[in-house]
Amino acid sequence: MAIEIKADGVVVVRAPRRVQPGLIAGFVKRHADWIALKQAEITQRPRAEPKGFVEGEDFLFLGQTCRLHFVEAGVPKIDFNGHIQLPRAKESQARDLIEDWYRAQARKVITQNIEQRVSEMGCRPSGLRITGARQRWGSCGIRGALNFNWRLVMAPPDIIDYIVVHEMAHLKFRGHGRQFWKFVEQFVPRYQEKRQWLSDNSVRMAI
Ligand SMILES: [Zn+2]
Repeated sequence: MAIEIKADGVVVVRAPRRVQPGLIAGFVKRHADWIALKQAEITQRPRAEPKGFVEGEDFLFLGQTCRLHFVEAGVPKIDFNGHIQLPRAKESQARDLIEDWYRAQARKVITQNIEQRVSEMGCRPSGLRITGARQRWGSCGIRGALNFNWRLVMAPPDIIDYIVVHEMAHLKFRGHGRQFWKFVEQFVPRYQEKRQWLSDNSVRMAI
C-alpha cells in the first residue's frame, strides 16, 4: 500500500484490490501524522497570489516593498516614492499603468547595468528588448540582442546584475557549459546564491 499527497493536498491511497477495507483504514490511520505534516507543508508553501491592484497591496521594486495607494488629486499619473501613488480616477487602469511603469524602469535599470559590464566583460549586446515572457528572466537572441522580462526589475540590484551578466556571457558562450559558468563566475562569484534567490522569490514577482 502507498499514500500519496497531491499538490492540492488531496490524499490518494493505493492498495491491491484484494486488501480488506479495514486494513486500508488502519494503514491510513497509522500514517495520519505524516499525512497532516505533508498537508501543512503544502498550505504553507508560498503561492502566486493574483494581484488585485487594490488599495494597500504590496509590490516589489528593486527588492523593496512598495504599497499601492490611490489618492484624490495632486498626482498626474504614477508616482513611485517608496510607495506607489495613483490617482483614484485611474483605479480601473491601475494594472496597465503599473506594468508600463515597471517596463520603463526595467529598461532604464538594465541599460545602466549593461553599460557597467560592457568593458570588463568585453562584449556588447546589439540591442535590448523588454519582454513579458513569464517563463524566463532573460534570453540572448541569435543576432546578439538581449531580452529581459520586465518583472526582473522587482528583484534587488545584485540579482538583476547576475541575470545581465548571464545573458551577456551568452554573447561569448552559447549554452551552459563549464566555460560559460567559469566566465559568469569571474563577474558574479556567488552566482549560485542569486539563482537560489530567484527560485525562492519568483512567486512574489509573478504579477
Ligand atoms: Zn543562459
